[in-house]
Amino acid sequence: MIKLTILGSCSGTEPMPGRHHEAVTFEINGKVYWFDAGENCSHMACSMGIDISKIRAIFLSHMHIDHIGGLANLIFTIHKINMMHKIPHINDSYDIYVPDPAKFEHIKALSPTHRVKGVEMIEHEVRDGVVFEDEDVRITALHNTHLKETGERGWHSYSYLIEAEGKRIVYSGDVGVPHELDELVRDGCDLLIHETGHHPVSVVCAYAKSRNVKRLLFNHHGREILRSVEDAEKIIAEKQVNAKICNDGDVELI
Ligand SMILES: [Zn+2]
Repeated sequence: MIKLTILGSCSGTEPMPGRHHEAVTFEINGKVYWFDAGENCSHMACSMGIDISKIRAIFLSHMHIDHIGGLANLIFTIHKINMMHKIPHINDSYDIYVPDPAKFEHIKALSPTHRVKGVEMIEHEVRDGVVFEDEDVRITALHNTHLKETGERGWHSYSYLIEAEGKRIVYSGDVGVPHELDELVRDGCDLLIHETGHHPVSVVCAYAKSRNVKRLLFNHHGREILRSVEDAEKIIAEKQVNAKICNDGDVELI
């Protein structure tokens, strides 16, 4: 069983009551795999009983503040728990996948606890292809055009495919268009977590239907959903897609 938790469901808006910026975790076989780190994500995770000492890897889609606003605090928390509470970290280390290492230097400067002994942070620059694999999970990255970059090594925004327990789950970074996920979704997937900050609900529903997506979770909400969840739900019903508009704190078992 894979447990997905929505720590933050909002796009990069001004503060919205009841919603925080993007962050999602997957708990698989006793380990935590963390995607994006918007404001407040570590506090939210601790409040929901997610064990920070079990973080195996962190994957960042891109270095915009609504995806990394809570990252310095997350790194601080991982090391603080190890230092103060003597709770050993899983594997004594965790991996972090960074699309833009130059910008990540600033995050590390804000969270110098990552240098304290006891748990090692292993940093990787994200590239297209399989970026992480252990006995339980395989993660594949694919660049997108959200940041409008070009060139073979110029991409700093990524989506991810998570393969675990025979399931295929796609996590969209902020994509330019949904079809940028084609290589990850391929002929279908069990779950697609799609951001709606930049795309109409109807367009994402049509994409999911055309690609044989079994279940669609809307996250990273933009103005359309924030204005009226009810109207968005009507569109989902009309399109006959198995979809849900996520809220902070939602849990999904896959
Ligand atoms: Zn965003």
